[in-house]
Amino acid sequence: MNNLVLSLAPKFTKLQTLILRQDKPQLEDNAVETIANYCHDLQDLDLSKSFKLSDRSLFALAHGCPNLIKLNISGCTAFSDMGLAYLAQFCRKLKYLNLCGCVKAASDKALKTIGYNCRQLQSLNLGWCENVGDVGVMSLAYGCPDLRALDLCGCVLITDDSVIALANNCLHLRSLGLYYCQNITDRAMYSLAHSRVKNKHEMWESMKNRYMEEGLVNLNISQCTALTPPAVQAVCDSFPSLHTCSGRHSLIISGCLNLTSVHCACADLAHRAASALPHPAH
Ligand SMILES: [Zn+2]
Repeated sequence: MNNLVLSLAPKFTKLQTLILRQDKPQLEDNAVETIANYCHDLQDLDLSKSFKLSDRSLFALAHGCPNLIKLNISGCTAFSDMGLAYLAQFCRKLKYLNLCGCVKAASDKALKTIGYNCRQLQSLNLGWCENVGDVGVMSLAYGCPDLRALDLCGCVLITDDSVIALANNCLHLRSLGLYYCQNITDRAMYSLAHSRVKNKHEMWESMKNRYMEEGLVNLNISQCTALTPPAVQAVCDSFPSLHTCSGRHSLIISGCLNLTSVHCACADLAHRAASALPHPAH
């Protein structure tokens, strides 16, 4: 595959999308350097699981592909935070960034640079980036107000401060993954629930119906073992798109044994429908 990219990239100078997913990692830095040298219009690049690639690739992309909107480097474990921070300073149009498993690259320092430069960011996957802490997530929350999807699954260091900053600043947040973030407590849940109430009011004032459908539609708090039912129920009540019922599993609470009593709006409806039915004749 590496040779194929080396020979083809110079012929596709108008290329906008390039997906280079591999079962076995074959891509090397010289292939990415060739892409960066010839494909300056590239907007969507998938290099996931290319763990042979080093920061040389990120430096090349920073200079050659400043129009990148979507970049998937999940599983590229050799990238460092210096390389990622460098890329963020040049690729400032990024909207979708997948860093899942980039443990070395996704440091608080790199996230600070992303928050400072990539202000249009809408979707960020930081799954299993276990060095990510509150400083990094808060920089994103303050720097990227358009954030819609953030996956922090397995970011074991983060605390309520991260979630509170997101709830207060990222008013378009639709999807939040907190799987295994075991420092998260009820405080974080109440801040999410209250952000909804606050936003609803502001939106009525300014936008009327335009944004009424906004709010969380996916929340994964599986294995957040410190949470209690009233706090999670408050979130569920604030966001009508969150469901715990089978088939519409958008509030994921598996592994939280305490939370079996959290019910989505469907449970109320079912209860009301059942009591509205005429009693069977005796
Ligand atoms: Zn439901």
